[in-house]
Amino acid sequence: MRCVVANWKMNLSSVEAKAFCEDLLGRCAPESGTEVGIAPPFTLLSLVSGLVSAKGIKVFGQNAHAEAKGAFTGEVSMPQLRDAGCFGVLLGHSERRQFFGETDAALAKKVKAAWQWDLLPLLCIGESLAQRDAGQTLAVLGQQLSILAETGPGPLWVAYEPVWAIGTGRRAEAPQVREAHAFIRAELNRHLGAAASAIVPILYGGSVTPESFPELLGIPEVAGGLVGGASLDPKKFAELVKQAG
Ligand code: PEP
Repeated sequence: MRCVVANWKMNLSSVEAKAFCEDLLGRCAPESGTEVGIAPPFTLLSLVSGLVSAKGIKVFGQNAHAEAKGAFTGEVSMPQLRDAGCFGVLLGHSERRQFFGETDAALAKKVKAAWQWDLLPLLCIGESLAQRDAGQTLAVLGQQLSILAETGPGPLWVAYEPVWAIGTGRRAEAPQVREAHAFIRAELNRHLGAAASAIVPILYGGSVTPESFPELLGIPEVAGGLVGGASLDPKKFAELVKQAG
């Protein structure tokens, strides 16, 4: 199974989102065997879900709180994402880790909360440039995946996103992607067991474009892409969906 997920981050108005969805649906219908997702900002979840869910495109939140409800001003909960039509939730995106202090301990709670509310967690992991330069890439990925020792197995997608490749136009080279994805698979096998690991797709994210995606899809253990910048253009995103099919 291949997966292509758009991460809109903090972009698009309701008018722009509607135009995007109509344009995308006019360009492509996801092939069976390809999962297509869109992660809009919270304010657009219901709108986007109403426009694309019936066409088989899955909607993801970009984050959620681990508690179901309560006095957490500015936060949104897992059941609220479900209520807005979400299928899943991005967890641990590097921008959340970097700018909002998201920790592995908090992420373990969020993964369990997502399962409790029948949402698919798309867990994002990746090393910074300083960590790669210090030869710590695999240690960092291992640490970020160690939350699975606490959560145990469950429905999960993982995205490998080297922080230095996100939004920079500089994507990781094929050998770097191959090494990271093979390591992630081995860690998933170790934490979840081979059978549970086998159904977890590992996506690549970081400056994916229609120019770079075919080569990435040819790398073992690359099951698709988590796409930021290129996902704001329906033409480019539709092209990525076609390439994955
Ligand atoms: C992302 O936001 O997850 C991402 C990979 O962004 P970009 O494609 O712009 O690098």
